[in-house]
Amino acid sequence: MNGEARRYIILFGAQGSGKGTQARLLQDHFGIPQVATGDLFRYNLKEETELGRLAKAYMERGELVPDEVTNAMVQDRLSRTDAQGGAILDGYPRNLNQARALDDMLAEWGARVTQAIYIEVSEAELLRRLTGRRVCRECQATYHVVFNPPREEGVCDRCGGPLYQRDDDKDEVAIRRRLEIYMQETLPVIEYYRRRGVLTTIDGEAPIDDVNRAIVAAIVDRQGP
Ligand code: ADP
Ligand code: AMP
Repeated sequence: MNGEARRYIILFGAQGSGKGTQARLLQDHFGIPQVATGDLFRYNLKEETELGRLAKAYMERGELVPDEVTNAMVQDRLSRTDAQGGAILDGYPRNLNQARALDDMLAEWGARVTQAIYIEVSEAELLRRLTGRRVCRECQATYHVVFNPPREEGVCDRCGGPLYQRDDDKDEVAIRRRLEIYMQETLPVIEYYRRRGVLTTIDGEAPIDDVNRAIVAAIVDRQGP
């Protein structure tokens, strides 16, 4: 496919801002896969792969997994057949080093980041969302016990899998550490894309469907339906 026709959309926002929730809706809307580095690491952890063993300690502390490991994992994922039309990146890039690695990777394929979306949410709301978050063990779909409950408690609407609470969402120290790293390392990446003129900021405190409509409108506005 022509590199320019591909969509590489990055979702930015602090942990709990709704990136995963929105990435899944966008994946259905645009027919390109969600590539969530956190989900990929958790999958490797569950399967006890070498990559999972390597990432484990960093994830438990709420720290970033080293860039080399993360960049290689993303390159591998974006090279697969289902991502030839592009991808919705969720949780990557998370620092400037990763942003530059992504640019180089895409440039080699004759492509580029077509749009960056910044989902803005206040810290008080982030804490409410993270502590109530539940995730499907099978398909990684995300719910909230109050704001977005599943039809049947503890069971995924999409695939019937069991819901669980992430260890790093149970631990307030890990939550604060993740938000701290986000402020230090990820905010400069958002600025990097703002300067490039590809960033749109969205109010992430609106209901899920409204946030989705605003993101779709921003993407269609820039690159067509
Ligand atoms: P992220 O991927 O950015 O960490 P998630 O998509 O997992 O965030 O969302 C965090 C929590 O907030 C989940 O429990 C989700 O159901 C809930 N949530 C997501 N978007 C909204 C919204 N617009 N309003 C209320 N709750 C939301
Ligand atoms: P998330 O699901 O996005 O909240 O990510 C969970 C954890 O996975 C993070 O706290 C990090 O330890 C790790 N992780 C996810 N994405 C990245 C990334 N782009 N770079 C480094 N570590 C990451």
